[in-house]
Amino acid sequence: MKKIMVVFLSIMMIVSLAAASFADGAALSCSATNDQLNRGDSVTVTVSLSGAPDVKSMQLTFDIPTDVFTVDGGWSISGTIADFNKSKNLAVIAFESPTNINGSIFTLDLTVKDDAAYEDFDVAITPTVKVSSEEGETEVPCAGTSVTLTVIDPSCRHNNKTSVAAKDSTCIDQGWDAYAVCGSCGQLFSADGKEISEIPYRELNPDNHTGNTEIRNQKDATCTENGNSGDTYCKDCGALISAGSKIKALGHDFGAWITTTAPTETTEGEQTRTCSRNWQHVETRTVPKADHVHDLNHIAANKATCDQPGNTEYWVCSTCNRHFSDAQGSNEINANDVIIAPADHHWGEWVVTREAKAGEKGEETRTCIYDSNHKETREIPSLPETENTDAQTEEPSTVAPELPEITVPENEIIENPDTQAEEPSTVALELPEITVPENEIIENPDTQTEEPSTVALELPEITVPENEIIENPETANDENTAIWLPVVIIALLDAAAVAIIVIRIKK
Ligand SMILES: [Zn+2]
Ligand SMILES: [Zn+2]
Ligand SMILES: [Zn+2]
Ligand SMILES: [Zn+2]
Ligand SMILES: [Zn+2]
Repeated sequence: MKKIMVVFLSIMMIVSLAAASFADGAALSCSATNDQLNRGDSVTVTVSLSGAPDVKSMQLTFDIPTDVFTVDGGWSISGTIADFNKSKNLAVIAFESPTNINGSIFTLDLTVKDDAAYEDFDVAITPTVKVSSEEGETEVPCAGTSVTLTVIDPSCRHNNKTSVAAKDSTCIDQGWDAYAVCGSCGQLFSADGKEISEIPYRELNPDNHTGNTEIRNQKDATCTENGNSGDTYCKDCGALISAGSKIKALGHDFGAWITTTAPTETTEGEQTRTCSRNWQHVETRTVPKADHVHDLNHIAANKATCDQPGNTEYWVCSTCNRHFSDAQGSNEINANDVIIAPADHHWGEWVVTREAKAGEKGEETRTCIYDSNHKETREIPSLPETENTDAQTEEPSTVAPELPEITVPENEIIENPDTQAEEPSTVALELPEITVPENEIIENPDTQTEEPSTVALELPEITVPENEIIENPETANDENTAIWLPVVIIALLDAAAVAIIVIRIKK
């Protein structure tokens, strides 16, 4: 039986394909009021026609398992002839003229026999459609139809249940609650085991999207403008699932500063840096003037002279004219500090260049020991016009030709006044004329090599002061010399000396 059905269906499919290739294709279709039947149940199968041209006649051939079903029914439209031969499973209808009969055309009433097997049965209907033509009537292809009817075993113990897990609804597909179905009778059961008539579908869930999404309104952040991660939409239902979030502006990503204009000591420079994200983002800044680099000239130390200032060693910048005590220019000094003031003249003693006489001024001069061109001159007051004075100041003369002349030094210049306290030396007069150095200039008494000599004389010893300190030759002349010169002369005369000491004082 089933093999026959398969062959039939195969043929039917071929016919169906042929019909489909013919215009839009005339075709039959059918629907049953119920396809799950118990023994004794009746079911109505309605046959419809579509896509057919106006027909002259039509024939339906039924393939119905007559051992299962009793058959009844008939055309639901009227024609010149409308016949249903149940024993031949054949129905025929014919019209006076071609008639449009698309739509419901036949009703088949089937009743399950009491001894029907508990199985599935196919009811197939094959049409033959004829239209008018010059040759009379010609057949046009028309696809057949079929329906499967199940005869349920009411005594099924439902030992062949299959559980179907619950499935959530999505935004576009209905899910269902868990249920079970009997593999033997097709009975459905709810999760708690109760018989149910249909699958327990759930409502669509607009919040349960399938995950098939797309991003809209996305915007990348730039250095200065915020971006957006983009809104997420369900591609299936088009609903907005989640709004995008703000992406903060990135800020510039500047590279290193590059000097475009180098600074000098007198002009500022310029540097720029560029954003790695956008070469048009450039920052510029001014570079301060370059540090001054001294151009140092070395000035050697130079001693001051009596009339010319000297200087210490220093370095001076030819550009900024600042002064430094070191060659590196690290220790700046005041320009005035390098100057060494001119030294004072270091005068020698006054020397009489013209003797003062009675009524006539003299003149004396002193010379700088550092530079003989430096001289100072001053007057010597004239002497009073008396005879004594005249004689007193006369050049010492040799008094006794037979006695030797002795010249005794005096007027030695000793800078250290302490030596004034020295013991007067003992001078013994005996020898002929002795010349003793005079006018010695002794800066340091230690260097005095020519000790006034001790002169041995036959005569009684005479103590003669020496090493007189004359700080001011003027006063020394007038006082000291004047005081003790006569004492010497008198002492010599009293001792009946034959020697004459001639003392000359030169200025
Ligand atoms: Zn069952
Ligand atoms: Zn969706
Ligand atoms: Zn930037
Ligand atoms: Zn400088
Ligand atoms: Zn001088």
